[in-house]
Amino acid sequence: MNSHRVVVIGAGLAGCCAALEAAKRDFNVTLIDEHPQAPSSMSLDAPYFYGARLPATLSDAGAVADRVLGANALLLDCLDAGVEVLTNTCVWANLMPGPNLLYTDEKRLGLADGERSWFLPYDDLIIATGARDLVLSFPGWQLPGVLGAQAAGALLTRYQALGGTKAVVLGSGNVGLRLARQLLDAGIEVAAVVEVAASVRGDPALQAGLVAAGVAFHTSSVIDSAIGEQQVRAVRVCALDQQGLPVPGSEECIDCDTVCIAIGVVPNLELAAQSGCKATYDAARGGWVPETDDCGRSSLEHIYVVGEAAGVCDKGVLDSVQHLERARRAAVAIGTPQGAEWKPTTASAAAPLAADAPNEWLRALLAQGGLSVVLCQCEEVTRGEYIALEAPRYLQPSERRRAGPIDASNRASQDFVKRMTRCGMGHCQGRRCRDHAALLLAHANGQPVGSIVPGSFRAPVRPLPLSAIAGPDESEAVSRTWPIWFQPLNEGEMG
Ligand SMILES: Cc1cc2nc3c(=O)[nH]c(=O)nc-3n(C[C@H](O)[C@H](O)[C@H](O)COP(=O)(O)OP(=O)(O)OC[C@H]3O[C@@H](n4cnc5c(N)ncnc54)[C@H](O)[C@@H]3O)c2cc1C
Repeated sequence: MNSHRVVVIGAGLAGCCAALEAAKRDFNVTLIDEHPQAPSSMSLDAPYFYGARLPATLSDAGAVADRVLGANALLLDCLDAGVEVLTNTCVWANLMPGPNLLYTDEKRLGLADGERSWFLPYDDLIIATGARDLVLSFPGWQLPGVLGAQAAGALLTRYQALGGTKAVVLGSGNVGLRLARQLLDAGIEVAAVVEVAASVRGDPALQAGLVAAGVAFHTSSVIDSAIGEQQVRAVRVCALDQQGLPVPGSEECIDCDTVCIAIGVVPNLELAAQSGCKATYDAARGGWVPETDDCGRSSLEHIYVVGEAAGVCDKGVLDSVQHLERARRAAVAIGTPQGAEWKPTTASAAAPLAADAPNEWLRALLAQGGLSVVLCQCEEVTRGEYIALEAPRYLQPSERRRAGPIDASNRASQDFVKRMTRCGMGHCQGRRCRDHAALLLAHANGQPVGSIVPGSFRAPVRPLPLSAIAGPDESEAVSRTWPIWFQPLNEGEMG
């Protein structure tokens, strides 16, 4: 094995495939994946939208680890091939020497598990971080039992721990149809698939299988709300007319305990973006994607982006072969200089069927729910407050004075609007609302989504426990003698 270190981030199909190919080529390969995650990380909705219902079985770390590792045959192949595998480990930064980082002359990753943080130097980096859920809000979306399709898929197949018996799936693209199939296969009833479009978006054969299994399809319909007190117990659905407007009096309730949002998935861009890789907007590949060539080479030498992290389309959900091939090519390209000939593959010419689904859903949800629906769960910012650039609610009325003008370019900048409203500044760091907010801003400004300046990604790109980055605690002697309030007094000291 040579000493050239290749680090692959993400042990999904693409990452494992790249790691195996790199190991074949005798590189010193490390493969890192954040799963199996501790429930505390999952509850921050990283990387998927798990929502507020995580089954208690997830706290049995040993059993969970067995299940998650056992469900990934390729990962076991990587171990056999001599790849160093770090699971339950997230990469929270890619730190590269440059004007902003003078203290080191080597490229290194910031890693953390539940307890500690450390650095790992690398020569070449393959980012295979996959995709996450695109979530749009509706009344009741904060209830336990509402979650994203990626999260539901992970809980079903990787963790084998999706608590729920009867689900409604929002979205009939292949992500939604595939998930509905997986739910049925796991013995979970699928009460309905709800779709704003007039017809089902995904694969007809998949749809036919679901219809045969008794799944009801509600096309030209939108969710009005999830209903429940402690957790979801039903959804209210409303029909849409030909203009996409809600039909008054058409509301009906569907009993369920789980709502899976399968409106879209977006590439996990954060590490590539934080590294400084150039990105472009391509609706057909899930929105903002890193610019890559046919071998997954990014605009930065020694950094490759492969798999769904490089772009995700609804059709690709049915066929991962293209991801595997590109991941393999990335590993083969390592060691060949990027040179001047690097040219990113151009944006997809023809948008596949489901590309505009998020926008269509947004319009229908706005028409039904209006502007008072909460957009940012962490900071409780509503859609209306976000669009109107209203001051955070914690400010007193006397403090709600703007200190400067707001021009059109400010209104098209997600970072700017975030600072004005606090939307995306809470503990989930915008994972739940980022994409919704961009769509909403574009809609309100009458602009294409790609012209909205996306919010920046900064390290740490994953939530870290303070214990992982803070120095060691005070010494035992200090803890013992440190003066604190409410220390019980000895009898003689009573005043
Ligand atoms: C509901 C559903 C059902 C599907 N069913 C099928 C199917 O039956 N057959 C099929 O071929 N395809 C299916 N797909 C598609 C398939 O899952 C994807 O094409 C494939 O998983 C993409 O592989 P990937 O390696 O790019 O990403 P992923 O498999 O998502 O792997 C990326 C990994 O990187 C990890 N990661 C991300 N960021 C970090 C970080 N900072 N630090 C550490 N780790 C990180 C993620 O947690 C994840 O484990 C399905 C998709 C969905 C949503």
